[in-house]
Amino acid sequence: MLVLVLNSGSSSIKYQVREVPDGASVDGSPDTGEVITSGLIERIGQAEVPDHQRALDLLTHRLDDELGGRTLDAVGHRVVHGGERFSGPVRITNEITRAIERLSPLAPLHNPAAVLGIRAISHSLPDLPQVAVFDTAFHRTLPEHAWRYALPDSLYTEHGVRRYGFHGTSHDLVTGEAAAFLGIERSSFAAVIAHLGNGASVTAIKDGVSVDTSMGYTPLEGLVMGTRSGDVDPSVITQLIVRGTYTAEQMDRLLNKESGLKGLAGESDMRAVAEAAEDGDRYAELALDVASYRLAKYVGAYHVAVGGTQAVVFTAGIGENAAGFRARVVDRLGALGITLDAAANEARSRDARRISGEDSAIPVLVVPTDEERAIAEATAALVRI
Ligand code: ADP
Repeated sequence: MLVLVLNSGSSSIKYQVREVPDGASVDGSPDTGEVITSGLIERIGQAEVPDHQRALDLLTHRLDDELGGRTLDAVGHRVVHGGERFSGPVRITNEITRAIERLSPLAPLHNPAAVLGIRAISHSLPDLPQVAVFDTAFHRTLPEHAWRYALPDSLYTEHGVRRYGFHGTSHDLVTGEAAAFLGIERSSFAAVIAHLGNGASVTAIKDGVSVDTSMGYTPLEGLVMGTRSGDVDPSVITQLIVRGTYTAEQMDRLLNKESGLKGLAGESDMRAVAEAAEDGDRYAELALDVASYRLAKYVGAYHVAVGGTQAVVFTAGIGENAAGFRARVVDRLGALGITLDAAANEARSRDARRISGEDSAIPVLVVPTDEERAIAEATAALVRI
């Protein structure tokens, strides 16, 4: 089945077309399917590509060339926020599209863009089945003690203020792959999964499902990220706004776009920060220290949350590639009896692998993620029903 995976942002659309082999998601077949083509349509809103409809028209023309006469069977949309309603992928109808639209206040940059992408496809290719796959859905299993903030109930009931969690598609996929790698039944698997990309989150897995996660009401909470601060004392924000040092908009920008590695080291990209640290840059070194310390604290906390983890797993751009950063984190986990195999950690590979020492009390793994594959498989599975 040929599936178009779309990740619609406000000014760009990322796409990938995948061949999903029959039964891949059902029997756990190792055949992960072929990427037929992929790309990016940028600068939506500017002269050549005034809106999402025009971007999708461009994309369908491009695909006519690139697919060599083959036609798409379905479209899978990455949707950032599924609120409390969506706990798994769904076939898109007009009602579902409106529900995604109603969740826009929770993800003002992302959900409206996804809705524009869905409507543009409905307009140009009305017969094509569409599926929405939500970043939040995997975290619908969080127990209330994990998703509640210690705020008056009205914040939750009237404003939907609670922890939702994100990166769910990746945490879900990587959980399954890690359990399979270790030969543990997923339904009895406890793990701590660190998805470390430009955005970063860590999830506590118990009995194969998410029981806690570091991102909260928005993707700002938790770890030190490329440009996001992660956890800070909320009084920093209120005080600086009350004093008039920052407007609310400036503060939002500061926390989301100018903080994290960028705020500490002046660079948001891990490769640049790691190189600067190698060259002796004190602020780059500090950024790596703060980020690795924060993550190690979460691993300790989630080890407790899951009643003793069976694995610590690194994934996404930094998790899969930044050996030096992984070493900094693992070096802080000695209290859990965790040790690093330095050579295994440095070895490069595209496969799932173990990087902990033989004597490590808990295995540490690197497991590549592939969100497009997960979205394509979820889409195919729903469309086949
Ligand atoms: P996104 O959240 O945008 O999907 P990715 O998962 O692609 O992000 O991760 C991007 C991050 O991965 C960047 O900080 C980048 O520097 C880092 N990264 C990618 N390759 C390497 C590498 N070889 N060494 C260190 N960091 C890397």
